Amino acid sequence: MNLEGKKAVITGGNSGIGFATAARLKERGAEVIITGRSEDRINSAANELGVKGVIADVSSVEAIDSLVSQVQETFEKIDILFVNAGIFAPGEVGNILEPEFDKQMGINFKGAVFTIEKFLPLMNEGGSIISLSSVNANAGMSNTSIYSASKAALNAYTRVAATELAGRKIRVNSVNPGPVSTPIFSKTGMPEEQLNSFAEAMQERVPLKRFGEPGDIANLIAFLVSDEASFITGAEYNIDGGININPL
Ligand code: NAD
Repeated sequence: MNLEGKKAVITGGNSGIGFATAARLKERGAEVIITGRSEDRINSAANELGVKGVIADVSSVEAIDSLVSQVQETFEKIDILFVNAGIFAPGEVGNILEPEFDKQMGINFKGAVFTIEKFLPLMNEGGSIISLSSVNANAGMSNTSIYSASKAALNAYTRVAATELAGRKIRVNSVNPGPVSTPIFSKTGMPEEQLNSFAEAMQERVPLKRFGEPGDIANLIAFLVSDEASFITGAEYNIDGGININPL
């Protein structure tokens, strides 16, 4: 899993899974650029990792265009695109609010799609794209309808992208994590007590009886983007402690 000589872009690389993956890819020899929305957080994460950080809100296609130009100042071409930026906003069917719908679809689906679309001209032959989806894409967990729909839509786009980009020898795969210990849940604004009982219930449902760690997901991604995975495209990998086989 040597990534020497490969150039990687990771959206949402200042936190959680994106940050852990940036560290892992760098450890394996890749040159990495991370992106994020907040100047403070992206600068401190980039300093900690010793990589370049670029500010870009992926819900704006204009911002993605500007991100691509800024990446090109450092990398003429790229080999790895990890489309990781995403949010989770819980909401019950019957009470779905349009702003929450637009926000989740705008970042998790539209933002991911246009990140891929806009970076394609920079992708080298033999390159690898990973869409960070979720086990929710294929599940029916309460309060996750729009989040789940955004990830299912992303997986559908990713599959077709794998077909259409195979001719350029670009591999495209989805990764579906189960629950992972990251700040994504605290960003929902749920009260702490509710968050704790949600976390306990979730952990109980995972056959391996723990949340994943960001490094668990980073390990899979480091493999998928490496040349050792050169025959893998159009795949969807669950990495979830077994929760997909124990949905209730
Ligand atoms: P996180 O909150 O730690 O990281 C999310 C990252 O996305 C942050 O860097 C944030 O700045 C970035 N981001 C959010 N909105 C953005 C926007 N508009 N423009 C640019 N960047 C934006 O959470 P995480 O758990 O590491 O999430 C990473 C991905 O993993 C997300 O796509 C999430 O849906 C997915 N995921 C997480 C879990 C989990 O349990 N943590 C499970 C399945 C899938």
